[in-house]
Amino acid sequence: MNLPFEADHALQQDDLAHHLHPFTDHRQLAADGGPRIITHGQGVWLWDTQGRRLLDGMAGLWCVNVGYGRPELSEVARRQMDRLPFYNTFFQTSHEPVIELSKKLAGLLPEGLEHIFYANSGSEANDTAIRLVRHYWQAVGQPQRSVIVSRKHAYHGSTIAGASLGGMSSMHDIPGIPIPDVVHAEAPYAWESGKGMEEERFADAAARSVEEAILAAGPERVGAFIGEPIMGAGGVIVPPAGYWQRVQAICRRYDILLICDEVVCGFGRTGNWFGAQTFDIRPDIMTMAKGLSSGYQPISAVAVGERVVAPLLERPGRLPHGFTYSGHPVAAAVALENLNIIEREGLVEHVRETVAPALAGGLGALADHPLVGEVRTLGAMAALELSPESIQPGGNLPLGTVATRVRNLCFERGLATRAVREGLVFAPPLVITTDEIDTLVDILTGCLDAVAAQLREPAHG
Ligand code: PMP
Repeated sequence: MNLPFEADHALQQDDLAHHLHPFTDHRQLAADGGPRIITHGQGVWLWDTQGRRLLDGMAGLWCVNVGYGRPELSEVARRQMDRLPFYNTFFQTSHEPVIELSKKLAGLLPEGLEHIFYANSGSEANDTAIRLVRHYWQAVGQPQRSVIVSRKHAYHGSTIAGASLGGMSSMHDIPGIPIPDVVHAEAPYAWESGKGMEEERFADAAARSVEEAILAAGPERVGAFIGEPIMGAGGVIVPPAGYWQRVQAICRRYDILLICDEVVCGFGRTGNWFGAQTFDIRPDIMTMAKGLSSGYQPISAVAVGERVVAPLLERPGRLPHGFTYSGHPVAAAVALENLNIIEREGLVEHVRETVAPALAGGLGALADHPLVGEVRTLGAMAALELSPESIQPGGNLPLGTVATRVRNLCFERGLATRAVREGLVFAPPLVITTDEIDTLVDILTGCLDAVAAQLREPAHG
């Protein structure tokens, strides 16, 4: 849709006047003249009010796994809205979509995860996981096990508990966060803290940091460890081989529950249905959102393993927890159809067999680019760490300056990507083709070349 300039401008002004955006510097947004307004999407492509086309290198926000413009999903939503737009699942009632979705998920989840609780967002799923962990330990007579171990650079959401679990310091900038009884171990982030270290030694060191956090808190006080199989928003931090095996062994040693946050990694992104399968993790609790409905409806889920669910199923009393929209019928119906699409179209295999090697090949070739320090890819996820200092030794630009410049140029040239610290991350819709991956890599390469050339001119440094 190509809006006349005045109409587009009026929309931007209304947005600036009334819309508070998440994670946005509103003064900067106003200085930039307002937001880019997205009108529609098809496959991996987005269009804005000025008729510009963007290749969505981030699947919305790591979520539009099946791509944009799926009539199957709108049809299912319309049918469910006509039939039953809402009913709660609190008071001894249920409905078909939530029952069918639960059965479907139980069939896809790793063995031992058979029971599913629903919420609306990844943050709420992680809040729910904490409450379930604490409920469990209380039920088995160890209520003091309230500490949750998370990691630096983790992202687990933006509610007070989610932000507390998160390990990015900027998320703790609002007073009161982190809440008590959340502690953070180091991330398995070799680019930051394991340069030049042999992979196995680094896996050891990163896992040891988890154990140290447990020991510092007192193992008898620790209820759970939470981790994304691959850290997404923290910068697509792919752990070294053997890391997860070590972390699992540590959790077992101290009898600590393991929560996998699959909000990003779930539903095909890593080349298996779940990141836990890619890394052979056996979680007690798994949280999911995003790709569960490919973002077509807000819905999240918490899969609860046999051990944690037992007190809920076997003891009298109820869990004092739930949301109005837990298992919302329209969201559940859309999620179910979305899972059917992923299955029907073999998207998990497509990631494993086509997307993963093409991204690894295309982006991997950029490792030799003068502006690139490291490339990491796994499945349909990737990160580039930039190294401006290799072009401008001692340049001392504030962290993130160069990645932001590359990101902005990518948007101008038709590629949506995201800057994290001095790097860029990618997580395109899983339906992306090899031709579209070539386009992504071409645009990105041109932008890296242009910013590298700017950096070589001292006036622009
Ligand atoms: N966990 C992870 C791993 C995430 O990436 C996110 C969102 N990016 C969340 C939880 C929070 O999800 P939401 O924004 O839906 O609350």
